Amino acid sequence: MRTARRVSQLLFFLLFLYLFFEAVYPYEVALPADLFLRASPLAAVASILASRAFVSTVVLGLVILALSIPLGRFFCGWICPLGTVLDATDRWFKRPRRKVGQRESTRLRSWKYALLVAILAGSFLSVQFAGYFDPISVITRAFTAVLLPLLTKVADTFVSLLGRVSFLENITFSAYNRLQEVGFPTQQPLVRGSFLILVLFLVILVLGKWSRRFWCRNLCPLGALLGFVGQHRLTHRTVSTACTDCGVCQLMCRMNAIEDGYRITRTSECIECMQCVDICPEGAISYRLGLPASSSHKGVDLDRRRVLGSLAGGTLAAAALSVGFVGRESSSSKLRPPGALVESEFLDRCVRCLECVRICSSTGACLQPALLERGVAGFWTPVADMRHGYCEYNCNLCGQVCPTGAITRLSVEDKQKVVMGTAYFDRSRCIPWYRNEDCLVCEEHCPIPEKAIRLEQRPVQLPSGETRLVKFPYVVEDLCIGCGICVTKCPVEGQPGIFVTTAREERFTARGEKVRKEEVPAYGR
Ligand code: SF4
Ligand code: SF4
Ligand code: SF4
Repeated sequence: MRTARRVSQLLFFLLFLYLFFEAVYPYEVALPADLFLRASPLAAVASILASRAFVSTVVLGLVILALSIPLGRFFCGWICPLGTVLDATDRWFKRPRRKVGQRESTRLRSWKYALLVAILAGSFLSVQFAGYFDPISVITRAFTAVLLPLLTKVADTFVSLLGRVSFLENITFSAYNRLQEVGFPTQQPLVRGSFLILVLFLVILVLGKWSRRFWCRNLCPLGALLGFVGQHRLTHRTVSTACTDCGVCQLMCRMNAIEDGYRITRTSECIECMQCVDICPEGAISYRLGLPASSSHKGVDLDRRRVLGSLAGGTLAAAALSVGFVGRESSSSKLRPPGALVESEFLDRCVRCLECVRICSSTGACLQPALLERGVAGFWTPVADMRHGYCEYNCNLCGQVCPTGAITRLSVEDKQKVVMGTAYFDRSRCIPWYRNEDCLVCEEHCPIPEKAIRLEQRPVQLPSGETRLVKFPYVVEDLCIGCGICVTKCPVEGQPGIFVTTAREERFTARGEKVRKEEVPAYGR
């Protein structure tokens, strides 16, 4: 059984990696790039609670939640990519040796339930915490912000070193080209705030120093949710009379789910990894299907005080964020991706997984995680940074990979008509305007067929007295969609000569209606 579980973990992890690396423009894989995010029951429940509407993209997460009622935490033991990474990295750490019967502490176990309660209370008050702790979002964010840029840097360094050795040059470059054909970035993607994402991910890994699967045992709110719904599951660890009370199963259980006496299993903790079945020297343990016998299992052990405390804490924090005094709508200077829902609905739905940032990095590369530009409530939500990149006119991928529908799915043709914002010239920095010299860069790059940037040629008198004909660019507001390529390509050093604001910005309601900021009184509340 252990082999079967390992094969399952490996296959699901490879699928996760495959979809992650293939999430590039143009996306041509039959499976959705955000398959694992859609399969997260926590993201599903939190986004439905927060938006108070059925979110069709998260059906798979609901199916897994429903399956966990009879099957328990199978997702944790057999599928979750973060769980697989933790199983691999936990081997790196040396922990104090324990003797048989010396059980690890279970004191911190209730933390994950407290966190789950706070998340659900927050979601109910339309404040989304789930994405910060959802394991699939955690690992997707870490791979996007840290692993991918790091791998690209390492590969670039190797290629430039090996490429200098004449007999390795050809083979090195053809191997690198092949890598890029299968989705490896051609340029190192840079994600703002990646250091914090790295530190938090490393903390999760390093907690393995204290116990195996520390995160899963004590902190993971998804594990808490699945453990709670699956505590009366129909799959049971059964111990036969061949048991000699050697205690090896309890010693080796990565989830500390076997109670003293070795017969009783804490079903809310057991992830059905089957290690106890394989490790038992007497072959006394088996897994059976059937109604649970009360003598062989125990469910959730909740510390009520902590749960009530976290309910109060989560409710207070959520209330503070929802009334806006810590800046829920504090700034609208940064653009949202094309197709984003109106701000309040966007904040309710977005699980901060950064899948859109990942896929955008392979095309226009404008999307970045917000720090505080969109208020505390918008931390790590995607915003467009036009100096960093632009929204590619022929791309609609962020909407296709958003697991919770925070970005509306649009066809390329519909997306090309969505106004993200409007560009304006900064005449104190734009070359024709302040230096009286021609510069056609923005006009040439503007992707709108009728050109949203046009040029008007006028004579100007220079300080020397000479008259020169200069082409002055201007924006046709009604045509501009705010894609920002003019900003990205502007050759002016530092602050560009053109910038995009959220003026005329269009958003979508959860029902799919397009609305313009100034036309909708309730917009963004
Ligand atoms: S407890 Fe959380 S991180 Fe661990 S395996 Fe389960 S879902 Fe994944
Ligand atoms: S922001 Fe634009 S370029 Fe980036 S993924 Fe979305 S549609 Fe594509
Ligand atoms: S943002 Fe710039 S490039 Fe894009 S449509 Fe507007 S003017 Fe054209």
